[in-house]
Amino acid sequence: MKNILAVMEVTDKVTPLSLQILSRAREIADELDGRLDACLIGSDVAKFADELIAHGADRVLVAENPRLKDYLTLSYTKVFEAVVEASDPFGIMMPATHNLRDMGGRYAARKKIGLVAECVAVELNDTKDDIKWIRPTFDGQLFSDVRSQSIPKMGTVAEDVYEINEADANRKGEVVKVDVTLTDAECLTEILGSVKANTANSTLEDARVIVAGGLGLKEPKHWHLITELADALGAQTTGTKPISDQLWIPQDRYVGMSGRKVHPKVYIAIGISGSAQHIQGMKNSDIIIAINNDPTANIFDIAHYGIVGDLFEVVPKLTEAIKNL
Ligand SMILES: Cc1cc2nc3c(=O)[nH]c(=O)nc-3n(C[C@H](O)[C@H](O)[C@H](O)COP(=O)(O)OP(=O)(O)OC[C@H]3O[C@@H](n4cnc5c(N)ncnc54)[C@H](O)[C@@H]3O)c2cc1C
Repeated sequence: MKNILAVMEVTDKVTPLSLQILSRAREIADELDGRLDACLIGSDVAKFADELIAHGADRVLVAENPRLKDYLTLSYTKVFEAVVEASDPFGIMMPATHNLRDMGGRYAARKKIGLVAECVAVELNDTKDDIKWIRPTFDGQLFSDVRSQSIPKMGTVAEDVYEINEADANRKGEVVKVDVTLTDAECLTEILGSVKANTANSTLEDARVIVAGGLGLKEPKHWHLITELADALGAQTTGTKPISDQLWIPQDRYVGMSGRKVHPKVYIAIGISGSAQHIQGMKNSDIIIAINNDPTANIFDIAHYGIVGDLFEVVPKLTEAIKNL
């Protein structure tokens, strides 16, 4: 029997991405006629098991220990090994988050197995003996179908590519405790405190209008074009990952698959090509307006309104027109 293991992440609740993955994992396990296990690692996490069963888990493997309160690479990887042993899965799907990308990488290296990162689709092949891990490649211009030759086949899955299925409170499942002992040597680091992210940034997710800039702006000295348009509109600003890598904007402020997820009423993408990774973070905007001098740019595929033109000419005129309204 080919079983699937879905790795869950919890904060004060099971994260939406975990439930999205669980929902997709349910469909795949059904196609394989296999069992779906969900994995909960942490301190005081067994209380979430019923919710996971309601969303499709046949078994919830719970590994609890006060020492697992915070994510730490060594302790979590050790415990995850025990969970995988108890599940004996054909495929492992986990959230593409900072912590689980870290744990997946460490586990894959230890076991010398493959790990496909940040997939935007997970499917079975026609003969149902392999998993197709679909992920963006070449700066998001293409999607590649990656196969892993080792078992378990393991991949991390990006946010918002699957919907959460409806919970069924009457579903029955099993809760299995996985015993974990952790020695001091396996808990070499300790989290002494945490610093809240800059609260000024939290407004991005709540923003009704967002003006976003990309590499089409060429140099940071041109960023004022973005802020001036945003000021005229009372909008928030953001950018693509390379813009934040080059520190034109704070590193925790870019939008995309590995960045922030936004859903404003209006998203204005200026000098942004529309890579799959960027689109992942803003595709749920109500209205997308793109300004780009390349009529074939991918951003126009998802834009509701497009202006093909030189941003250095278009944006100042647009800002001026809005100020005059
Ligand atoms: C694992 C991984 C994760 C990633 N995660 C993210 C992510 O979360 N978010 C993200 O944004 N990226 C992410 N990326 C990077 C992504 O693949 C792209 O490289 C990036 O989104 C491209 O940014 P851009 O659109 O600003 O630049 P470019 O792709 O270089 O596009 C610039 C655009 O500006 C246009 N342009 C140039 N001059 C002008 C002008 N004068 N007037 C008008 N238009 C002009 C060009 O036609 C072009 O379309 C990730 C990459 C990897 C490998």
